[in-house]
Amino acid sequence: MQHDLRKIVKNFDRAQEEDQTAQFAAEHQLPYVNLVNYPFVGDVLGLIPEETANKFSIVAFMKIGQSLRVATSNPFNPELATTMNELGIKLDMKFEPFVCSPSSMDYALSRYPMIVQKAKDNSINTKPGESIENELKSLKDVQQAISTVSTTELLETIIGGATILDASDIHFEPMQDKVHVRFRVDGKLLPIFELPEKTYKPLSSRIMTSSKIKLDLKTVAQDGRMTVEVNGNPLDIRVNVLPSAYGQTIVLRLLNYKNFLTLDQLDFNDNAKAAMLEAVAKPEGLVLFTGPTGSGKTTSLYAVLQILNSNDRKIITIEDPVEYRIDGIEQIQINAADGFDFPQALRAVLRQDPNVIMVGEIRDKETAEIAVNAALTGHLVLSTLHTNSAAAAFARLLQMGVPKYLMADAIALVVAQRLVRKVCEVCRGSGCETCNMTGFKGRILISEYLKPDSEIIELIKREASLSEFQKHFAEAGGRSLLQDGLDKVAQGITTEEEVRSVTA
Ligand SMILES: [Zn+2]
Repeated sequence: MQHDLRKIVKNFDRAQEEDQTAQFAAEHQLPYVNLVNYPFVGDVLGLIPEETANKFSIVAFMKIGQSLRVATSNPFNPELATTMNELGIKLDMKFEPFVCSPSSMDYALSRYPMIVQKAKDNSINTKPGESIENELKSLKDVQQAISTVSTTELLETIIGGATILDASDIHFEPMQDKVHVRFRVDGKLLPIFELPEKTYKPLSSRIMTSSKIKLDLKTVAQDGRMTVEVNGNPLDIRVNVLPSAYGQTIVLRLLNYKNFLTLDQLDFNDNAKAAMLEAVAKPEGLVLFTGPTGSGKTTSLYAVLQILNSNDRKIITIEDPVEYRIDGIEQIQINAADGFDFPQALRAVLRQDPNVIMVGEIRDKETAEIAVNAALTGHLVLSTLHTNSAAAAFARLLQMGVPKYLMADAIALVVAQRLVRKVCEVCRGSGCETCNMTGFKGRILISEYLKPDSEIIELIKREASLSEFQKHFAEAGGRSLLQDGLDKVAQGITTEEEVRSVTA
């Protein structure tokens, strides 16, 4: 393994800088905040003009109702108090000052171009005046619109069309002489149209520039983000670019707030919901959501976070990447390229004394161990794990090497989930324009859960195998994913084939 000495030294200095700043803040009885890698939101950061921010080393980082949290690296500037007073009156907000390190301030000030970028992004605007939702209804309409639109309006039309079809992703896949464009709708990829190569070039450049992805780096995968306006509403889009044989493959993920649901809007059965509410009402413990990619685990995590989000709880999330921004919750984006990975972020977050921690995913032993330890020391920890069943989570954590004596006490609840397509309510499955002739429209969640009992604890202690955990689940009367799904088949909501395809 290679060690970058500069990086180690830099991180060492950084840790010391934050420690000293925290100590300084404590001595002056001021709250402290670390803003390096903080997920600034343009709307909040922009409340203090860049010029003022630079002059007084003060930035706004969180807005809770009429109260604005601001951080400064220079709290004893004699003019600061006057400036904050004036700004507070002008914005009609109460300022809560925090102390941050010079590095935090540099990072915060470096985020100002994002606001300018956002204003520029607004030029990608699907024109509220000629609301395309009124013009376009079906896949055919969208295809027709995309094939006739001018090159300059192509991106707007594609994004607008995708939102109308409730697509979660837009894929651009360059082939030898053309580019395939596909939308992901209800989990399945749907071919939309083909673009000539010469039209794709300016289009891909525009996507990359708008999402701050470097055009000249043609051989590496890159991530970016943009905000566009669709019928007057902001839509966040995560952009991923991957070089392929015939050009840049681009995937746009539409972070549609329509997918941001409350626990009641999700389709957990009453028993599963009760088990979840019971587990998250406790001040500590580990609650895990499991399932493959695309099974809606993140949506469930966000739904639980909304329940927990109150003034008397400090909630911090560690995400890769931050998908939806929630007011009142501190959301940290990991940056593995800079060594700010899940374990490091988790350790940093624990020093901030949170009540609730959401870790996007447990992928390795180190993260698992810190999460389990945190769950045993007064924190409610929420996370996801890539396993096929609730019972498998126990076997997976043992297999990762998490000490059994820690695990036995830490895990409060494991929920496994899948999404299955719903039979189209208009045509009842025979295929119509509403469902793009697929017979399905929308998706519903199926789930199972396992709350550790004394027998599970025994199984953990003797490091039982996956099949032993599964056997116990069945014997203890656990309702499986398949059973929950077949219930929904009996109600005519989905089909047996759909359920079996995700529970096999
Ligand atoms: Zn239909």
